[in-house]
Amino acid sequence: MGDNERVSRSSTTRAPRLDQVCAAAVEVARAGIGEVDPADVGEHLTVVAEGDRLVTHFFECRLPGYQGWRWAVTVTRIPRSRSVTICETVLLPGPDALLAPGWLPWHERLQPGDLGVGDLLPTSADDERLVPGYLYSDDPGVEEAAWEIGLGRSRVMSREGRMDTAQRWYDGDHGPAAPISVAAPPAARCGTCGFYLPLAGALRQAFGVCGNFYAPDDGRAVSADHGCGAHSETLVESAEAPVEEMPTAYDDSAVEAVEAVTVAATAVDPAAGDDRS
Ligand code: SF4
Repeated sequence: MGDNERVSRSSTTRAPRLDQVCAAAVEVARAGIGEVDPADVGEHLTVVAEGDRLVTHFFECRLPGYQGWRWAVTVTRIPRSRSVTICETVLLPGPDALLAPGWLPWHERLQPGDLGVGDLLPTSADDERLVPGYLYSDDPGVEEAAWEIGLGRSRVMSREGRMDTAQRWYDGDHGPAAPISVAAPPAARCGTCGFYLPLAGALRQAFGVCGNFYAPDDGRAVSADHGCGAHSETLVESAEAPVEEMPTAYDDSAVEAVEAVTVAATAVDPAAGDDRS
């Protein structure tokens, strides 16, 4: 390593030395915070070296609503002078300051379910989930429909849009990990259910719509390996249960032995007449 390189490295990494004259000018710095009530300026917290003869004093801020914020007053002096002057005064957040959340564009703030009745949600022209309808959409179902109808939609879902959608559905409440699916019998999967209506297009391989009025997923897209207890074959399985496992309510095939009893004929008094006449 040459001398020039060594000198260059040491000059770029050298931390500024705290100027003792500027560091001692606490009251000069405090007096620089002149636009607020003195009661809103609290204890002197710390002093930081910013450069040669350039330091920043930090004071506690007691303004309501500014918890953890600090008044920062930067002061300096010219060489060989003990007169300290103020460069700037600002209010800065400290490490524990109460801060508002970072600003987000509206379309990044929206959450599923935020769209209400009557709301309009425009898509941006460069929404990567959509591609112009005249482009090959990479979805055979879309191509086939556009060909049959003779016109296409102005935009169709792009491959990225379909992949995102499929992943969201699969990971959500209508995929295999949903609680209702985990609790269902292993054989009760949507892909083998009579109420499963497969989607058209590329998503057909993994998704369909549940058409069972009694199922919680009725009218929703479900994955082929989702499942529930309302599977169309659930009743067939229970009807084929072995007879011997059914509890016997009456046993009318057994013979009960009873002892025969002879009853003596009752004598009839002719004088009593016949009630039937
Ligand atoms: S009834 Fe259940 S198993 Fe059948 S398609 Fe609907 S959710 Fe799937």
